[in-house]
Amino acid sequence: MEIAFKKVNKEGFDFSLTCGKINFFGKVYQKSPILVLLKAKLEGELEHKCDRCAEDICLIVDEQIEMLISDGAYKTTKTDKFIIQDTLAVIEVYDGLINFNEILQSEIELYKSDYHYCTTCESQ
Ligand SMILES: [Zn+2]
Repeated sequence: MEIAFKKVNKEGFDFSLTCGKINFFGKVYQKSPILVLLKAKLEGELEHKCDRCAEDICLIVDEQIEMLISDGAYKTTKTDKFIIQDTLAVIEVYDGLINFNEILQSEIELYKSDYHYCTTCESQ
């Protein structure tokens, strides 16, 4: 699922997609001609292996995601400053398209890159 960057307006565009048992849904809003704000929810279950004993575990995911999408290389301008929060991650797109599948995949990878333990290891 993807949308042309230029088609995102201030009212926002709803999106929703599923990957396995993970749902990713929310809205993208135009913040400036070159910036889009994404507000979304990532929820569901992810299969993973315990980072200590490699036991199969199921992660319950329930995450709020907020990030900026920049059309081309991201650089802050004076006029952007009031809408830019330093804590927001920024992803850059170079083909004029916002690809929600790619964003979902990178969010899943990011989530998995944290340490997750099975209940046995967790209680040690
Ligand atoms: Zn374990």
